[in-house]
Amino acid sequence: MKDRSFLRICASVGAGYLVLAGSFLCFLFFRSEDAALRAAAVCFTVLIFLLGRLLLRLVRNKLVAFTEGLCVRIDNMANGGKDDAPDYESETLAAKLNFKLKRLYQIHLQSRERLRAEKQEVQEMISDISHQVKTPVANLKMYNSTLMERRLPPEKRQEFLSLMDMQINKLDFLMQSMIKTSRLEAGSIELEVKPFPIYDTIARALGGIVLPAEKKEIEVSVSCDQAVVVPHDVKWTSEALFNILDNAVKYTDPGGKIGVSAEKWKLYTRIDVSDTGRGIPEDHYAQIFKRFYREEEVHDVPGVGLGLFLCREIISRQGGYVQVKSEPGKGSVFSVFLPNGAPS
Ligand code: ADP
Repeated sequence: MKDRSFLRICASVGAGYLVLAGSFLCFLFFRSEDAALRAAAVCFTVLIFLLGRLLLRLVRNKLVAFTEGLCVRIDNMANGGKDDAPDYESETLAAKLNFKLKRLYQIHLQSRERLRAEKQEVQEMISDISHQVKTPVANLKMYNSTLMERRLPPEKRQEFLSLMDMQINKLDFLMQSMIKTSRLEAGSIELEVKPFPIYDTIARALGGIVLPAEKKEIEVSVSCDQAVVVPHDVKWTSEALFNILDNAVKYTDPGGKIGVSAEKWKLYTRIDVSDTGRGIPEDHYAQIFKRFYREEEVHDVPGVGLGLFLCREIISRQGGYVQVKSEPGKGSVFSVFLPNGAPS
């Protein structure tokens, strides 16, 4: 039955109908002696037969028109055209089918748009990465060929080797940061969110900036209750805080000040990192958290523009968020908010 075409089903029903009507006619014809009754039986049977045929044809025509319309719509959707079929008001089977088709098309359009956006993002990322890698690689090539082709005095050779070392470190840092961000984004890194004193995590992050801060004679002060416990991943959160602290050292002039404080609020624990550095204009607040974004003015300071991106990624993976408030020329305050309850 499933494999039969509608036309064949109609033909079978029609044939069955004919056999039935014929049998009924024969039955009346041979059973009755009355000529008028026989004639009435013939007329009645023929009439029923004609009506049946008409009904079947009507149903068939309607179904053919409906399927053809459906095919045209599906073809139009497959070709990416607009589906402007009206919504059915009634609760018929056709209305249900129409609703499901529209829903399916919306899902198809949404996933197509998502794919397009992802493709564009990947393309932008590749062009950003190649842009970032180009300069250190070009520098390395240049230093290397100079060292190979020219006879340089030992001090000059040493200088070139140090410059090459800097470029290699930059490439290494870039690769490490990119691997971390892509693993975080892909979800292949499981964060271990456990209640832990935030003071210890801050201390761990501060460990990485003590020396550079000392070198620049920047005073670092901490104000945090050692009893404040908040659920977080110690390793990754300290990395996020380190990125903020590292920036504070990089973008603060010698003799400046850095302050770290933590406070437990009702829903979140807030960690502030303030500095007396160069500051950030308000219209750059959103930009600085983007991958590879660096302000024009800081190109003489080492960096690749991934620190804050990574920081935001780590904190938001734990259900928190990062904010910045700054005054150009006066300093900045980066605030990290970690939820007091583990994210669901
Ligand atoms: P990077 O420091 O490697 O350039 P980040 O993602 O850490 O990359 O920071 C992005 C940009 O935000 C920096 O290039 C800088 O322009 C700005 N920025 C970040 N932190 C500070 C700060 N504490 N003071 C001033 N500018 C900052």
